[in-house]
Amino acid sequence: MTGDGHLDIADWHPACRVLGPGTRYVLWVQGCPLSCAGCVSPQWIPFGGGRRVAVDDLAATIAATAADGLTLSGGEPFAQAGALARLVSRIRAVRDLSVMCFTGYSLDHLASRGGPAAVALLSLVDILVDGPYLARRHADLRWRGSANQRVHQLTDRHAGDLVGPDVGAGLQIEVAVDGTVQWLGVPPVPGFRAEFERAIGVIPQQPQGEESTR
Ligand code: SF4
Repeated sequence: MTGDGHLDIADWHPACRVLGPGTRYVLWVQGCPLSCAGCVSPQWIPFGGGRRVAVDDLAATIAATAADGLTLSGGEPFAQAGALARLVSRIRAVRDLSVMCFTGYSLDHLASRGGPAAVALLSLVDILVDGPYLARRHADLRWRGSANQRVHQLTDRHAGDLVGPDVGAGLQIEVAVDGTVQWLGVPPVPGFRAEFERAIGVIPQQPQGEESTR
Protein backbone atom coordinates (compact mmCIF):
# COMPACT_ATOMS: atom_id res chain seq x y z
CA MET A 1 0.00 0.00 0.00
CA THR A 2 1.15 3.54 -0.61
CA GLY A 3 0.22 7.03 0.42
CA ASP A 4 -1.73 9.08 -2.09
CA GLY A 5 1.48 10.48 -3.55
CA HIS A 6 2.62 7.12 -4.90
CA LEU A 7 1.14 4.17 -6.73
CA ASP A 8 2.27 0.58 -6.98
CA ILE A 9 1.75 -0.31 -10.60
CA ALA A 10 2.06 -3.63 -12.40
CA ASP A 11 2.11 -2.49 -16.02
CA TRP A 12 0.80 0.07 -18.48
CA HIS A 13 0.03 0.48 -22.17
CA PRO A 14 -0.27 3.84 -23.92
CA ALA A 15 -2.67 2.87 -26.72
CA CYS A 16 -5.15 0.07 -26.04
CA ARG A 17 -8.24 -0.23 -28.24
CA VAL A 18 -10.05 -3.09 -26.52
CA LEU A 19 -10.49 -1.97 -22.91
CA GLY A 20 -12.98 0.85 -23.18
CA PRO A 21 -14.16 3.35 -25.80
CA GLY A 22 -11.59 4.64 -28.25
CA THR A 23 -7.84 4.39 -27.76
CA ARG A 24 -6.90 4.42 -24.10
CA TYR A 25 -3.93 4.54 -21.81
CA VAL A 26 -4.33 1.48 -19.57
CA LEU A 27 -2.82 1.32 -16.12
CA TRP A 28 -2.74 -1.98 -14.24
CA VAL A 29 -2.11 -1.53 -10.53
CA GLN A 30 -0.27 -4.02 -8.37
CA GLY A 31 -2.07 -5.72 -5.53
CA CYS A 32 -5.49 -7.22 -5.02
CA PRO A 33 -7.22 -8.37 -1.82
CA LEU A 34 -9.49 -10.73 -3.77
CA SER A 35 -8.56 -14.18 -4.99
CA CYS A 36 -10.74 -15.04 -7.93
CA ALA A 37 -10.39 -18.55 -9.26
CA GLY A 38 -9.15 -18.18 -12.82
CA CYS A 39 -7.56 -14.74 -12.38
CA VAL A 40 -5.65 -14.13 -15.59
CA SER A 41 -2.92 -12.15 -13.86
CA PRO A 42 -2.13 -13.84 -10.56
CA GLN A 43 1.29 -12.22 -10.57
CA TRP A 44 -0.47 -8.92 -9.92
CA ILE A 45 -2.30 -10.08 -6.81
CA PRO A 46 0.48 -9.68 -4.20
CA PHE A 47 0.87 -6.28 -2.61
CA GLY A 48 4.39 -4.97 -2.43
CA GLY A 49 5.41 -6.05 -5.89
CA GLY A 50 5.32 -4.06 -9.08
CA ARG A 51 6.88 -0.66 -9.51
CA ARG A 52 6.36 2.29 -7.19
CA VAL A 53 5.83 5.54 -9.09
CA ALA A 54 5.11 9.13 -8.13
CA VAL A 55 1.50 9.99 -8.92
CA ASP A 56 2.23 13.48 -10.18
CA ASP A 57 4.95 12.25 -12.55
CA LEU A 58 2.66 9.57 -13.92
CA ALA A 59 -0.16 12.08 -14.37
CA ALA A 60 2.11 14.31 -16.44
CA THR A 61 3.12 11.35 -18.60
CA ILE A 62 -0.47 10.26 -19.23
CA ALA A 63 -1.69 13.79 -19.91
CA ALA A 64 0.99 14.15 -22.58
CA THR A 65 -0.17 11.10 -24.56
CA ALA A 66 -2.65 11.13 -27.41
CA ALA A 67 -4.98 8.69 -25.63
CA ASP A 68 -8.72 9.34 -25.74
CA GLY A 69 -9.09 8.09 -22.20
CA LEU A 70 -7.61 6.30 -19.23
CA THR A 71 -8.57 2.80 -18.12
CA LEU A 72 -7.71 1.66 -14.59
CA SER A 73 -7.37 -2.03 -13.95
CA GLY A 74 -5.20 -4.43 -12.05
CA GLY A 75 -4.94 -5.80 -9.48
CA GLU A 76 -7.67 -3.94 -7.67
CA PRO A 77 -7.81 -0.21 -8.41
CA PHE A 78 -9.92 0.55 -5.35
CA ALA A 79 -7.16 -0.83 -3.11
CA GLN A 80 -5.27 2.32 -4.12
CA ALA A 81 -8.29 4.57 -4.54
CA GLY A 82 -6.81 7.68 -2.93
CA ALA A 83 -3.74 7.69 -5.16
CA LEU A 84 -5.81 6.99 -8.27
CA ALA A 85 -8.22 9.81 -7.42
CA ARG A 86 -5.24 12.11 -7.15
CA LEU A 87 -3.89 10.77 -10.46
CA VAL A 88 -7.12 11.48 -12.30
CA SER A 89 -7.45 14.92 -10.76
CA ARG A 90 -3.91 15.84 -11.80
CA ILE A 91 -4.51 14.60 -15.36
CA ARG A 92 -7.78 16.48 -15.67
CA ALA A 93 -6.13 19.67 -14.55
CA VAL A 94 -4.34 19.41 -17.91
CA ARG A 95 -6.72 17.37 -20.10
CA ASP A 96 -10.31 16.28 -19.61
CA LEU A 97 -9.69 12.58 -20.23
CA SER A 98 -12.42 9.98 -20.02
CA VAL A 99 -11.86 7.53 -17.16
CA MET A 100 -12.98 3.91 -17.05
CA CYS A 101 -12.29 1.64 -14.08
CA PHE A 102 -12.55 -2.09 -13.42
CA THR A 103 -13.21 -3.40 -9.94
CA GLY A 104 -13.94 -6.72 -8.30
CA TYR A 105 -16.26 -5.00 -5.82
CA SER A 106 -19.81 -3.99 -6.56
CA LEU A 107 -20.71 -0.37 -7.13
CA ASP A 108 -23.11 -0.54 -4.20
CA HIS A 109 -20.37 -1.83 -1.90
CA LEU A 110 -17.92 0.86 -2.94
CA ALA A 111 -20.45 3.65 -2.61
CA SER A 112 -21.78 2.59 0.78
CA ARG A 113 -18.81 0.92 2.45
CA GLY A 114 -15.76 1.75 0.39
CA GLY A 115 -14.80 4.80 2.42
CA PRO A 116 -13.96 8.38 1.42
CA ALA A 117 -11.18 7.46 -1.01
CA ALA A 118 -13.42 5.07 -2.92
CA VAL A 119 -16.18 7.64 -3.10
CA ALA A 120 -13.69 10.24 -4.35
CA LEU A 121 -12.49 7.93 -7.11
CA LEU A 122 -16.03 6.96 -8.08
CA SER A 123 -16.86 10.65 -8.49
CA LEU A 124 -14.18 10.86 -11.19
CA VAL A 125 -15.07 7.71 -13.13
CA ASP A 126 -17.17 7.80 -16.31
CA ILE A 127 -17.55 4.04 -16.78
CA LEU A 128 -17.27 1.46 -14.01
CA VAL A 129 -17.14 -2.28 -14.74
CA ASP A 130 -17.90 -4.01 -11.46
CA GLY A 131 -18.15 -7.45 -9.95
CA PRO A 132 -15.87 -10.42 -9.48
CA TYR A 133 -14.94 -12.85 -12.21
CA LEU A 134 -16.96 -16.02 -11.84
CA ALA A 135 -15.57 -18.80 -14.00
CA ARG A 136 -18.87 -20.70 -13.98
CA ARG A 137 -20.49 -17.68 -15.61
CA HIS A 138 -17.79 -17.00 -18.17
CA ALA A 139 -19.08 -14.92 -21.07
CA ASP A 140 -17.70 -12.91 -23.97
CA LEU A 141 -19.29 -9.54 -23.34
CA ARG A 142 -18.31 -5.93 -23.91
CA TRP A 143 -15.26 -5.40 -21.68
CA ARG A 144 -16.34 -8.21 -19.29
CA GLY A 145 -15.54 -11.86 -18.95
CA SER A 146 -18.42 -13.12 -16.83
CA ALA A 147 -22.14 -12.52 -17.01
CA ASN A 148 -22.47 -11.16 -13.47
CA GLN A 149 -20.27 -8.17 -14.24
CA ARG A 150 -21.99 -4.93 -15.09
CA VAL A 151 -21.11 -1.79 -17.04
CA HIS A 152 -22.19 1.37 -15.20
CA GLN A 153 -22.19 4.67 -17.00
CA LEU A 154 -21.62 7.01 -14.07
CA THR A 155 -21.64 10.07 -16.33
CA ASP A 156 -23.13 10.78 -19.76
CA ARG A 157 -19.73 11.21 -21.43
CA HIS A 158 -20.07 7.92 -23.32
CA ALA A 159 -23.83 7.85 -23.66
CA GLY A 160 -23.63 7.07 -27.38
CA ASP A 161 -20.74 4.64 -27.24
CA LEU A 162 -22.41 1.55 -25.80
CA VAL A 163 -24.97 0.97 -28.51
CA GLY A 164 -25.14 -2.25 -30.49
CA PRO A 165 -24.79 -5.87 -29.42
CA ASP A 166 -23.22 -6.55 -26.02
CA VAL A 167 -20.37 -8.67 -27.34
CA GLY A 168 -16.68 -8.89 -26.57
CA ALA A 169 -14.39 -6.13 -27.81
CA GLY A 170 -11.78 -8.61 -29.05
CA LEU A 171 -8.09 -8.83 -28.30
CA GLN A 172 -5.16 -6.63 -29.22
CA ILE A 173 -2.11 -8.75 -30.03
CA GLU A 174 1.31 -7.18 -30.47
CA VAL A 175 4.60 -8.65 -31.62
CA ALA A 176 7.76 -6.80 -30.61
CA VAL A 177 10.86 -6.63 -32.79
CA ASP A 178 12.50 -9.25 -30.59
CA GLY A 179 9.64 -11.64 -31.24
CA THR A 180 7.99 -11.41 -27.85
CA VAL A 181 4.23 -11.38 -27.93
CA GLN A 182 1.75 -9.69 -25.66
CA TRP A 183 -1.99 -9.53 -25.70
CA LEU A 184 -4.48 -7.11 -24.23
CA GLY A 185 -8.16 -7.49 -23.60
CA VAL A 186 -10.71 -9.71 -21.99
CA PRO A 187 -10.16 -13.41 -22.65
CA PRO A 188 -13.07 -14.64 -24.77
CA VAL A 189 -12.93 -18.20 -23.46
CA PRO A 190 -11.91 -19.76 -20.13
CA GLY A 191 -8.27 -20.77 -20.01
CA PHE A 192 -7.41 -18.49 -22.92
CA ARG A 193 -4.01 -17.51 -21.57
CA ALA A 194 -2.68 -21.05 -21.32
CA GLU A 195 -4.09 -21.99 -24.72
CA PHE A 196 -2.66 -18.88 -26.35
CA GLU A 197 0.80 -19.47 -24.95
CA ARG A 198 0.69 -23.08 -26.07
CA ALA A 199 -0.50 -22.13 -29.57
CA ILE A 200 2.18 -19.57 -30.29
CA GLY A 201 4.89 -21.69 -28.74
CA VAL A 202 6.56 -18.83 -26.97
CA ILE A 203 6.21 -17.20 -23.62
CA PRO A 204 4.32 -13.93 -24.01
CA GLN A 205 6.14 -10.88 -22.70
CA GLN A 206 3.33 -10.04 -20.34
CA PRO A 207 -0.30 -11.04 -20.36
CA GLN A 208 -2.30 -7.89 -20.03
CA GLY A 209 -5.70 -9.22 -19.36
CA GLU A 210 -8.43 -7.58 -17.52
CA GLU A 211 -10.45 -7.39 -14.37
CA SER A 212 -13.13 -9.10 -16.33
CA THR A 213 -11.17 -12.26 -15.80
CA ARG A 214 -12.12 -12.12 -12.15
S1 SF4 B 1 -9.28 -11.17 -11.34
FE1 SF4 B 1 -8.96 -9.10 -10.55
S2 SF4 B 1 -10.10 -9.09 -8.58
FE2 SF4 B 1 -9.82 -11.22 -9.12
S3 SF4 B 1 -7.94 -11.88 -8.08
FE3 SF4 B 1 -7.39 -11.21 -10.18
S4 SF4 B 1 -6.78 -9.08 -9.98
FE4 SF4 B 1 -7.99 -9.62 -8.14
